[in-house]
Parts: sequence; structure tokens; C-alpha cells
Amino acid sequence: MVLLESGETPIRSGRTIVHTQAGPRPGTLTLTNVAIVFESTGAPPPPGDGWGPGGGPSNNEYRIGLWRVRQASGAKGPNGPVLQVNLLARVLYLQVDDIPGWAAALTEAQAHAPPPPAEVQARRAMKRGGPAPPTRCSYCGRLSPAGSTKCTSCGAPF
Ligand SMILES: [Zn+2]
Repeated sequence: MVLLESGETPIRSGRTIVHTQAGPRPGTLTLTNVAIVFESTGAPPPPGDGWGPGGGPSNNEYRIGLWRVRQASGAKGPNGPVLQVNLLARVLYLQVDDIPGWAAALTEAQAHAPPPPAEVQARRAMKRGGPAPPTRCSYCGRLSPAGSTKCTSCGAPF
């Protein structure tokens, strides 16, 4: 059972096998209006495959924000058809029932997903020659202007 964040609603859910660099990982795949969530019933997906770290009350849950999804489509995998999800820098191969249904739902959800987090948007702007990104305080979670030596909200040093 996926633990939803505030404002998050599930769109579809089903059994999956995630094909990772370290082998297949069975579990449940849930698409919400903000993320793809994989709940592993076995070993975790290896770091570097793009899945966020497990965490929260159910720590077998791995998330990928929809803002990282570029494209979803059916594809031929090594062991049969898969749902191929192209992320910004990685590709996921997911064995699911109803591949066209998942691809369509993911494409639709991605089109209406919230924008990337503020830090990501700022990093992108900086690459285009814009100002440096703000720094997020690891203590209170608020943002301070780039170059700050301490948090402008709580005073914690950076
Ligand atoms: Zn702070």
C-alpha cells in the first residue's frame, strides 16, 4: 500500500517486475499524479537505476517523480514485451500487464505533473546562464539565496 503525499492521488496500480542492472525485482507498480512508485517484495532496486531511496514508514517503496519522465511506450525486452520509460538520464524496463494502458496513463499523468522541484529548476536556469540556484537548508528545509553561508530562515550554517 503506497503512502501518498498530500495532494497525491493514485491513478493505477498492478503487479510488476522491474528489470534492473542487478536482475529482476518483483513488486507492485503504482502510478500517481506526481510519481511512479515501486514497492519491492524482494531485494531493492540497485542504486544508480534511477529509483529514489527507500524511505518513510514503508521502506520498501521507491519513487520516481513524474517530472523526470520523458516518454513511456511499449518495447521488446530480453524476456518479452515491457513498458519502457525514458527518464531524463536513464531508461526503465518494467514488465506489467496491459502495457499500452500503462503507457497511455503514464503519458497522460506526465503531461499534467507538477513542475520539477525549485532546486532543479534553478539548476536548469543556471545552465542556461541564469543565476546560481538557492541552497536548501538540511535543517529546516527552506531555501536561502545562492552564496549564503547560513540559512536565512533558521540560521543553521551551511
Ligand atoms: Zn534553516
